Amino acid sequence: MTGRELRERFRERFGLEPRVFRAPGRVNLIGDHTDYSDGFVLPAAIHLAAWVAVAARPEPAVLAISQNLADEYAFSIGNGEARRRGAWTDYVEGVAVTLGKAGFPITGGVLLIDSEVPIGAGLSSSASLEVAVASALLANSGQAAEPLELALLCQRAENEFAGMRCGIMDQFTACFGRRGSALLLDCRTLGHWLVPLPSGVRIVVCNTMVRHTLAGSEYNRRREDCETAARLLGVKALRDVSAADLARRAADLPEQLARRARHVVTENARVRQAADALRRGDCTAFGSSMNESHTSLRDDFEVSCAELDLMAELARRQPGVYGARMTGGGFGGSVVSLVEDQHVNRFLDEVTAGYRASTGIAPDLTICHAAAGAEEVLG
Ligand code: ADP
Ligand code: MG
Repeated sequence: MTGRELRERFRERFGLEPRVFRAPGRVNLIGDHTDYSDGFVLPAAIHLAAWVAVAARPEPAVLAISQNLADEYAFSIGNGEARRRGAWTDYVEGVAVTLGKAGFPITGGVLLIDSEVPIGAGLSSSASLEVAVASALLANSGQAAEPLELALLCQRAENEFAGMRCGIMDQFTACFGRRGSALLLDCRTLGHWLVPLPSGVRIVVCNTMVRHTLAGSEYNRRREDCETAARLLGVKALRDVSAADLARRAADLPEQLARRARHVVTENARVRQAADALRRGDCTAFGSSMNESHTSLRDDFEVSCAELDLMAELARRQPGVYGARMTGGGFGGSVVSLVEDQHVNRFLDEVTAGYRASTGIAPDLTICHAAAGAEEVLG
């Protein structure tokens, strides 16, 4: 559904003229499970987005409708009774509550939500939803926030209300994405640099179509592991540990924590090398970093799964592939590959057939274009 179609649907359903907002999903090219250790990431916002149409209502309540889930939910504003329900509505109510607490009191409205970002595919449907909802609620209340504040408030909503202790990467990318570019982000300082994507290559996302139920709980557990490792090493976050430090101090950590730390430390180095390679247009070096990242996430951080490993393996076997790695939190979701233009059609056919033959599951493959961050959709 496009923004125009959503606007039309809203008019038909409510007889009101809405404002429409979009916020993109993202694909992380490299740098997973580094953001909450104050590290480095290199994502790009993608053409798939969450769309939200909004219009004011006189009552101090919000009615939110997800067309994707064919579900709706109404909540009153500012009564202090809001609680996590363990449902999709937490992402909407959480944003409303968090905005209110941060000095952006919102007023009543209807939200019609429609998203192209597949849920649980590692493309951050949650952050795109939060940022689109926050943009809509703010505008509907006659307010606005700077992109950085928007990103931070949406992360807080997901951390505190929805109970997912995610880092800042997803919300930041949904706010700061730029057409044609990846974003190198320092998750400590929030300094960021655009890295234009080279021509002649495509970013292909291969959704395994599986998501293991432990994704959320294991994510939070990995975050705790990183915090414990940092504490034992006497630093604020694993960002502060160099490869040389870790080599010297690894024996001070229990074996598993040493591997967790090694992933973060080596991944941070890989992100910066990969960003340099991309700037030089050196896709071969970039692809090698992607492959090494997958190995590290699989063996040291233990967040991959059989389906992701298979998909990455299949992808790398195709001609014209520079590299392939799992992307996002793991335990299912997607593999991202960098593929030479002229090989991309064959890649799509072969990987689809190979994955289906091995698993019996039809995967979903998408060529992703780097897109702009959240914005109001006019016209
Ligand atoms: P992802 O990797 O896609 O961000 P998460 O588990 O972080 O996975 O977030 C997915 C959750 O976000 C869904 O289970 C649902 O609660 C919510 N969500 C995402 N998109 C939508 C949508 N279009 N409508 C309603 N809820 C959505
Ligand atoms: Mg998410």
